[in-house]
Amino acid sequence: MSETDSLDNMIDQMSAARPYADIEDGVFERLKYPERTLKVTLPIHHDDGRVQVYEGYRCQFDSARGPYKGGVRYHPSVTRREVEALAGWMTWKTALMDLPYGGAKGGIIVDPREFSDRETERLTRRYTEGIRRMIGPDMDVPAPDINTGPQTMAWMMDTYSMYAGYVIPDVVTGKPPSIGGTAGRVEATGRGVAITADHAFEYFERDLTEATVAIQGFGNVGSVAARLLDQRGATIVAVSDVTGGTYSGDGLDIAALEGHVEQTGGVAGFGGGQAIGNDDLLRLDVDVLCPAALENAITVDVAEELRAELVLEAANGPTTVAADEILRERDIPVVPDILTNAGGVIVSYLEWVQNSQQYSWDLEQVNADLERRISTAFEDTLDAFAERETPDLRTAAYAVALERVGGAHEVRGLFP
Ligand code: NAD
Repeated sequence: MSETDSLDNMIDQMSAARPYADIEDGVFERLKYPERTLKVTLPIHHDDGRVQVYEGYRCQFDSARGPYKGGVRYHPSVTRREVEALAGWMTWKTALMDLPYGGAKGGIIVDPREFSDRETERLTRRYTEGIRRMIGPDMDVPAPDINTGPQTMAWMMDTYSMYAGYVIPDVVTGKPPSIGGTAGRVEATGRGVAITADHAFEYFERDLTEATVAIQGFGNVGSVAARLLDQRGATIVAVSDVTGGTYSGDGLDIAALEGHVEQTGGVAGFGGGQAIGNDDLLRLDVDVLCPAALENAITVDVAEELRAELVLEAANGPTTVAADEILRERDIPVVPDILTNAGGVIVSYLEWVQNSQQYSWDLEQVNADLERRISTAFEDTLDAFAERETPDLRTAAYAVALERVGGAHEVRGLFP
């Protein structure tokens, strides 16, 4: 088994929580397998007239508690096993947040940075056509993930609605506000990360205003987390993205960095700090390390040399199971992804609810609901950690989630 196989890692995380969860053996067994994964072939015209064929997936992992829910990722490293792992993580996340959803994920193997907007639109519409028979407001509701955002969701919603002959906003979440997107969705995941940081610091009796933070990834999640942690008084000393990293011991000017990224397309070349590579960023002597990019950022090699005092998992699956074990031995707590980055799916749920009621909430109401739900999940995780004496917070979070999904399967029964 490879250390970085996300599907193996996801199943190992479930298995580690198995002894701490009251769940039937037969139910646990079936939860190790996704319900279905569709592979689609996507031929599109490039702007120069060339036809190129791409491949994509949609995995529906489990729907015992409600419609499948999960993002769509455009990235060259997408694989079937990665999409299935991400769909599993969505299942545990929606259950931990106690949302009436299952888990799903989608992805296309592509580097959209090489695409024009027209090409990305054609690819998105073709992908939506490919998966449209398995999605829908009551069936499976996609959302943004790496290299996708509100515009991608608008094209998906439009394509799906065109086939139906009328507008169906709630087929996706994370839409622009003009077509039913909710206030607060763009910031939701980063806001959830900041709220989780508040709770973690309170739990560990530390002061966030005295903390230094390094963040890997400066996209939707990483940039908002940086801004909100900075506003809370933490010192963001390092940030990186796919173009490079920047470091300043006195703290980076996050607004200036956001302006630089907007202008140049990446963190590299930022004048307000020194250049730093990813390997060094992950090993910085900081209070908080916040991986907010891809899976497998923290492997055994990194875990052995990691100097942060707390890991806040904003990305999905950033720590391998083998690395997690080392961090546990080294007494470095990890606040797990299915808790830390759940703000996005919470506000996606609120968008879906507003769409189905044809009603809209203001930002204050959305943010208050987000804070209440993620804070309750944090408490549920801490309670499981204390009462069941789980080895770490991840196992506690999984025990809660497994029992909720397992309980739904038990009362529904096994068909036929
Ligand atoms: P994004 O595409 O907006 O940003 C990804 C960022 O990671 C970019 O800054 C990119 O340059 C950077 N990156 C990629 N490879 C890197 C590398 N090797 N080293 C350093 N940086 C690298 O995507 P996002 O929506 O911010 O997603 C980031 C993570 O958060 C993913 O794991 C995603 O699954 C997870 N997540 C996202 C949401 C959401 O609402 N968007 C919700 C929950 C979890």
